Amino acid sequence: ILSLAIETSCDETSAAVLKNGREVKSNIIMSQIDIHKKFGGVVPEVASRNHVQDINPVIKEALDTAGVSFRDLDIISVTYGPGLVGALLVGLASAKALAYALDIPLVGVHHIEGHIAANYIAHEKLEPPFICLVVSGGHTHLVKVADYGKYEILGRTRDDAAGEAYDKVARAIGLGYPGGPLIDKLAKEGNPHAISFPRTYLEEGSYDFSFSGLKSAVLNYLNGMKMKAEPINEADVAASFQEAVIEVLSAKLIRACKEHGLKQAAIAGGVSANSALRERLETMCKKEEIDFYYPPLMLCTDNAAMIGSAGYYEYVNGYTSSLDLNAKPGLRLGDK
Ligand code: ATP
Ligand code: MG
Ligand code: FE
Repeated sequence: ILSLAIETSCDETSAAVLKNGREVKSNIIMSQIDIHKKFGGVVPEVASRNHVQDINPVIKEALDTAGVSFRDLDIISVTYGPGLVGALLVGLASAKALAYALDIPLVGVHHIEGHIAANYIAHEKLEPPFICLVVSGGHTHLVKVADYGKYEILGRTRDDAAGEAYDKVARAIGLGYPGGPLIDKLAKEGNPHAISFPRTYLEEGSYDFSFSGLKSAVLNYLNGMKMKAEPINEADVAASFQEAVIEVLSAKLIRACKEHGLKQAAIAGGVSANSALRERLETMCKKEEIDFYYPPLMLCTDNAAMIGSAGYYEYVNGYTSSLDLNAKPGLRLGDK
């Protein structure tokens, strides 16, 4: 099965060609980060307009790089939610037009299922069941992947997403956007135990997360130091904040594996690019004899290859979408 996959849920215009679920022939990503940087975050209307401008060239480049033509394609996969509605609609309209013109099936894909599927591309042998920690710009989910396309949400954030917390704290420290990679880098020069920020585990046994308390604690710390006119060690703040985040994320992922009797753990989404999180989980999983999986950096953040992988498994499970498929900005994991 040869598929073309399209992803436009946020600020990356991306198209990919895949053979079956794991063989990536091309994965073209046109990022708008430089455009949104000057606003300190993604501006939805600007994102939509840039998707419109970039989508056709990006699709063409994906086909050219893969060395295939439209006629070779068997299915079209596309992200239809969650995300920015105006951004989603651009990819969706292109995908529907192609599916109609080529008379091939359209497969609507959940963006977060795509993030999880990035691990299938990276790890040839990975098969469900496994526990996946999805940590991205807008989502924080602890998911039991029972089978391809079958998800059980064990926990989710009750307020900010992990990536959102990184971005907000980065802004408070005075770093740029997006903040995750900048905090990651700065934290390497700091002491993770310099400042004691709160770890939010919530009720005993809960797999939910909460990051707004931590974010406020960091802001209060920064304000307090400014009031006292004491110097702020930004690297220590970054490292201590990051330590508080990864300690909770790692602990809950490991506990979920143990409680569900699973020996495979994965991470996905933009924050899974975080070097400290990867290192911590590498160590903890080794100790617990759990196989640990994470995607390469390029497959952690938004890209169409991951959508193609998830779409392929949806398709072989007998699921296709009709041409009246609409964008669903608030689509929940596991829903159609
Ligand atoms: P969602 O997938 O929830 O709709 P999104 O697509 O905007 O949101 P992603 O592209 O998955 O999010 O990830 C972007 C997020 O990942 C940003 O918040 C960014 O700061 C964060 N991020 C990227 N690299 C790192 C890193 N090395 N460490 C921590 N966070 C990171
Ligand atoms: Mg993005
Ligand atoms: Fe994403």
